[in-house]
Amino acid sequence: MEEINVSQCTVCGGSNWQRLMDTVETEKGEPFSIFVCTSCGVARTWPVPPDLSRYYSSEIGTQFLAKGAPLYEFLKRRLMLKEFSRIRHLAKSGISFLDVGTGTGDFACVMADAGAQVLTVDATSNVPVRLRERTDVPHYVMNYDTYQIDGLAGADRCCVVARHVVEHLKDPSAFIRQMLALGAKHFYFVVPNAGSFSRRLYGQYWFAWDPPRHLWHFTKATMEQLLDSHGIRTVASGYVASTMMAASVYRLLRMNHAPEWLCRAANTKGAISGLVGGALDAMCGDAAVWVYAQREG
Ligand SMILES: [Zn+2]
Repeated sequence: MEEINVSQCTVCGGSNWQRLMDTVETEKGEPFSIFVCTSCGVARTWPVPPDLSRYYSSEIGTQFLAKGAPLYEFLKRRLMLKEFSRIRHLAKSGISFLDVGTGTGDFACVMADAGAQVLTVDATSNVPVRLRERTDVPHYVMNYDTYQIDGLAGADRCCVVARHVVEHLKDPSAFIRQMLALGAKHFYFVVPNAGSFSRRLYGQYWFAWDPPRHLWHFTKATMEQLLDSHGIRTVASGYVASTMMAASVYRLLRMNHAPEWLCRAANTKGAISGLVGGALDAMCGDAAVWVYAQREG
C-alpha cells in the first residue's frame, strides 16, 4: 500500500499550509479546519479521520443517495444527458466510460441508456441501485486507501469519469497515478468549485466544505494543475450548476441548531427547496468545475 504523505500538497507537492478557517462537521459539530496550500492555493480539510466510513452513514451521507421528488429527478436526468453529450463529444469513438464512485448509478445509467459502454466502480460489491435490472454494465470494487480496482485488467480504452469523487479522496494524486497505471488516458472530473459565488456568499456555511467527507477543495486552476502535474492536459473545462444554494442553507441551519422541521424543509430534494434552490443554482451556474483532460502520448 502506498504511504500517503499527510503533510504534502496533492497538487503541487508543497508542504506549507495556511489556516483559512476553523469550522465543524454539519451534523455532529466535530471541529475541523480548512487549510490552503501557500504554493498552489488548493484547500484541504484537516484533520483527516483514519476511518471515514461512519461519516457516510450519517444523514448527509445517505441523503444524497435517496431518490428525490419526481420533478427533481426529471430535471436531474435532463442535466445529466446534457452533461454526457458534452463528454461524448470530447471522447474518441470506441472509448468506454469507467464511472468511479458511481453511487446509485444515476450517471452510469444515463450513459448506458445513451448506448455507451460503461463500467462502474465503487467501494462495495453491491451493484448500483439504478443498474440492478441491467446485465450489460460490469461493476468493480475499488479500495479507497490504495485506489486499486479488483479484477479490472486495464483501462487503456477507458475515460475515467469521476463526478463529485476526487474531493472525497485522501490523496487525489495517488488515485490518478493508479488510473494511469491501468492505462487510462482520458479523464473527466467534476468537483465543487471553491472559487464559486456560493462559496463567497456562504463563507464557512458553504455546503461543499462538508468536512470531513470533502477532504480537498479545488478551483478550476488547481484541478487543471493537479492533472497537469501527471502529464494530463486539459482539453476542455468549464463551470456547471450544482445543488449548492439549498444545501448550504441546510448546513447553516444545522450548524446553528435550528429545529428539525426547518432543517428538513431545506432538504435539497424536496419539491419547493429543490425548485427555489435549483433556480438560484442555475442562475449562478458556477458551483462546480468540470475538466476533460487527456494523457499525452
Ligand atoms: Zn499545493
